[in-house]
Formats: sequence, C-alpha cells, structure tokens
Amino acid sequence: MKVTLLGGASEVGSLSAYVEEKGFRLLFDCGLTPSKPPKYPMKPPVVDLAFLSHAHIDHSGMIPWLCATYGMDVVATKPSIVVGTMLLEDSVKVSQLEGFPAPYDKGDVRLLKRHFQEATFGDVLDVGGIDVQMHSAGHIPGAAMFEVRSEKTMLFTGDINTLDSHLVNGAKPVKCDTLVIESTYSGRDHPPRSETERHFVNKTREVVERGGLAIVPAFAVGRTQEMMMTLMNKGFRVILDGMGGAVNRHYQNMPNYLRSPERLDDAVSQIRMVRNPGDRQSLSQSAQVIITTSGMLDGGPVLEYISAKKNDKNSAVLITGFQVEGTNGRLLMDTGELKFGDQKAKIQCELGFYDFSAHADHNELIKFIKACDPQDVILCHGDNRIVLANDLKDDGFKVHMPKEGQQMEF
Ligand SMILES: [Zn+2]
Ligand SMILES: [Zn+2]
Repeated sequence: MKVTLLGGASEVGSLSAYVEEKGFRLLFDCGLTPSKPPKYPMKPPVVDLAFLSHAHIDHSGMIPWLCATYGMDVVATKPSIVVGTMLLEDSVKVSQLEGFPAPYDKGDVRLLKRHFQEATFGDVLDVGGIDVQMHSAGHIPGAAMFEVRSEKTMLFTGDINTLDSHLVNGAKPVKCDTLVIESTYSGRDHPPRSETERHFVNKTREVVERGGLAIVPAFAVGRTQEMMMTLMNKGFRVILDGMGGAVNRHYQNMPNYLRSPERLDDAVSQIRMVRNPGDRQSLSQSAQVIITTSGMLDGGPVLEYISAKKNDKNSAVLITGFQVEGTNGRLLMDTGELKFGDQKAKIQCELGFYDFSAHADHNELIKFIKACDPQDVILCHGDNRIVLANDLKDDGFKVHMPKEGQQMEF
C-alpha cells in the first residue's frame, strides 16, 4: 500500500492523503487552509474514489474542485454531506468577498451533491477487492475514520476526539498495521473538560452579574452546539447569531449522529435565534450571552457585537478554541487589539480563553495509538509532530513524519 500526504502533513490545515493499492487510487480528504490567501494541498493525481472524513474546510475545501476535475464519487456520512455542502457554499461566498476566489464556483458545489455517496459508521465498502470500513471519529457529528483492509490494514483518522463531548461520543481505537493519525495537539494536553466548563460558566456568571455582555465566538459547526449545551440550564439569556442556527437544524434532523438528541433539542429550545438584522438589534438588548461566528474573529456578526461593546469593561470576549497564527482572534489574544476592516481598535472588554478543543490531546493520542497497535504510525495534521513522535519512539513504535508529497510504502 502506497501512502502520500499531499497536504496537511507538517501543518494543521489542507489535509489530503493519496493511497494506491492493487491499482486503485483513493483519496482521503482534500482540504484547504482558509488563510488570506488560502493554502492548498498539492494537486492530486486522477483518483477512482474519494473519502471525506468530515465537514470542516481544512478537510473538505478542495473536494468540489476534485469532483469537477475528475468526476469521481465522494464517500461521506450524511452530516458531512449536508453540513459540508453548506460550509463549501459559504466558503465560495467568503472567498469572493475577500478577493481570493476559490478554484471552483457554486455550480461545482451543486455538482458535488450528485457525486456524494452516503455511507454510515459500520458500513463496509468494496472498492475493487479492497474493503473500506467507516468508524466514528468523535470529533463532530458524522466525523469518520476510514479503515482500509487489503493485504495490510490502514486507518486514516481525519480529526479525532477520544473523549465524549456533549455532542458526540469519543472515537474507539481500531486495530491496524498502518495508522495515519492527526497530531494537532502533539506536545499539548487539555485541562480536564469539567474544569474548563466550570471556569467558563463561572466567568460568564461573573460578567452577567456585573451587568456586562459575554460574547462567545464559536465555529458554527460543532463548537456552537457544545457551547449551547455547556450553557444550558444555567439560567442565562443566551442568543445565537450566524450560521450555527442552520447547523442546529441539520443536526436535529440527524439524531443518530448525536450523543443525545434530546439534550440538543433542549439546548436549542433555551436560546433565542437571531434571524435577521432587525432581530439582532432587539434581541441583543436583553441578551446576557451571545454565541456567534466566526470562531477566530475573521468576520461574521461577532465583530459587530464586539465593536458595540469594545469600551465596556464589564463585558467580556470569551474565546472557546485555539486561535491560529495570522487570524484576528490571535491578534486579540496577543495584543488586546482587533481589526474592524482596515481599522485596529483596542478592546477594553475582559478577555478569556477556554480550551474547548474537539481534538484528542497528546496523552489521549498516545493512548489511542497504543490501543490501535500499529506497526507504522504516520503523523500528520500537526505543526509540532516531533514531540509526539519522540514519545512514540520511546514506546517502540516506528514513526513517520513525511513531508508533503513524500511517498511511503507499507
Ligand atoms: Zn475538524
Ligand atoms: Zn482538521
């Protein structure tokens, strides 16, 4: 089996893995990094079939291009298809606005819908004598790992979380010969989730009690729902603005992919949804907490809310996830300033950071890898792979840290 990472090997972004086995050419994910300008993986060769692990753009961003160019099918779960298509349509719109047009258009995204082959966890696909089985990756609803079974077996994890979150149960290890695994949190451990939640809820309460507004920037897919469920039943008046509402509706229609559909329904029933700019005005008057996009403050309604409160020391911006280098969110964390268009402004609100990551951390990755018991471990999707690689080597694993484009044979 030949494995080549075309993108996202040495960085967290634009992941794509090309696999050749018995004359068949398979591609796992084809993402792009939504930076300015965006970063793309290497151009994949012609492939027979593609697999999409989940809806996030760093895994799906180039799938419409792939389909329009080669016309093959793409296997994915229903949430990845439905939510992924929504994110791709939005990304075409955003890229035009930002002046970095995507290498495909809305028509290509529409075409992609006809090329999606829906499958679910446990399904085994026969690809010319090679079996491919899907397993839950625990990262967001519908996120899949792919197990390729031929003479040898290979597991491609996409993004994984091994712990249960409010939204989904954690990933379970799969025995394999070769493990292609993400390493976003190599060298870093999360504080216990219950502690993070307690600090976050306490801070929110403190802000509300002093008469401020708690602004919670969150990605629409996954993080928004986690934050809604973390804040539910706490007595706060929470409003939700941005694409998260549409994602809620999609997830509510796919209860099989949720840990507890009832709890999501409950959380949704406790929030008020901003549906238009008029709502934004009236609902935000009485709101105590606002969950909104974008998660890294690079656009979206969040900037409007922060701009209105930027001189209010009683209010707070409570960041809920890692802020990538070069984003507006990172600028805020490093300098206390935020860009509104071309203008930078000092933010007087209190700033808080809470690690609500949906990725396995260093120790969880090691535990997962040990349980998969592979001969070869290929680390990808990480900008600091060496720390994890060293720990794994100490444990006797054969570890690979390929560069983008480097072919490996197993
Ligand atoms: Zn992801
Ligand atoms: Zn990712």
